[in-house]
Amino acid sequence: MRTFETFLRDWPRERREALAASADGDAVLSVLHRRTLRPEDFLILLTPAALEHLEAMARRAHEETLRCFGRAVNLFTPLYLSDHCTNQCRYCGFNARNRQPRRHLDVDEAEAEARAIAATGLEHILLLTGDARHIASPEYIASVAARIKPLFASIGIEVYSMTEEEYRMLVRHGVDSMTMFQETYNPELYAWLHPAGPKRDYAFRLDAPGRAAAAEMRSVGIGALLGLDVFLHDAFCTGLHAWWLQRTFPGVDISVSVPRMCPHEGQFDVPHAVDDRLFVQYVTALRCFLPRAGITVSSRESAFMRDHLIALGATRVSAGVSTAVGGRATDARNAGQFEITDRRSVDEMIAALSANGYQAVFKDWEDPLGARACGETCGEHVGL
Ligand code: SF4
Repeated sequence: MRTFETFLRDWPRERREALAASADGDAVLSVLHRRTLRPEDFLILLTPAALEHLEAMARRAHEETLRCFGRAVNLFTPLYLSDHCTNQCRYCGFNARNRQPRRHLDVDEAEAEARAIAATGLEHILLLTGDARHIASPEYIASVAARIKPLFASIGIEVYSMTEEEYRMLVRHGVDSMTMFQETYNPELYAWLHPAGPKRDYAFRLDAPGRAAAAEMRSVGIGALLGLDVFLHDAFCTGLHAWWLQRTFPGVDISVSVPRMCPHEGQFDVPHAVDDRLFVQYVTALRCFLPRAGITVSSRESAFMRDHLIALGATRVSAGVSTAVGGRATDARNAGQFEITDRRSVDEMIAALSANGYQAVFKDWEDPLGARACGETCGEHVGL
């Protein structure tokens, strides 16, 4: 099977730039009249010419969102299990070169933190670790997932890239979704941003969502970290990646996360900061191109921005977020991975959604094998 890494070679930077240079207002309006958009249409919606038609794009995005998702927004929260990391990503506070106290939850501590989250009513949880396999191994993540499975309808992971076999093992232990941030789709920039550590392998990371989908992960999410490369390129490649995944794995729920960096994040000067208007253009263009894809907006964004993006395409938001390891039911001895802006609790988020005419959904999926009821989701117990 062709991988996305090879498919992306059909869309070199020069081809994207030439198409963007030819886009004008008429081309944008013509795209907005098409029932189904092609990748080249999506690219046109990301150009400066489309900014002039942002209202028309917003109308289309709003209609597509209502048609495919109604007025329902899924709530989830992250649980940071470990901030040990062997990588040196230049833009991240967990970078291995940063001398700071590190923390790793054992399985009992992870369960205590998860119980505190479950007590808020949330049913979807996202497990995160740094990239340190010798500490937070796939088997450790599987143990945590199996232990907390009785508490949640859905367990997602946002961790380092794994092999297809490792993803399969996690699925057997109750993990049903994975998110992988490529950070940037520019291979040269990627190499500079990741000078050392296993994450340096661009192609292995790029094809991780495809391996997870092949391993029968129910839901797969992707995203670029906006601000690292020129907006057009990472925005386009992210949408193209989601489009390719939807076509290659039609049974898998594909979603896009849209994190963007603040102009000066930590010690890192963001080279291509994305302003609010460009950010709205991105979300509306994604929704027009991929009507069925979930769009996740994290608490990096302000409450104001998140509330407004829900009408334009966001279908998943986090609530009650902490990016530190521990702190809910166990000690927290470290700083968070990045600054969050929207600090609303689960109850505050429900109230805000309701005030805007939307319903907070805690659970949009049930394990069809009923494994949750027995509390054991490894292969031995569900007969896989
Ligand atoms: S972004 Fe992830 S892999 Fe990179 S240094 Fe931070 S925690 Fe480690």
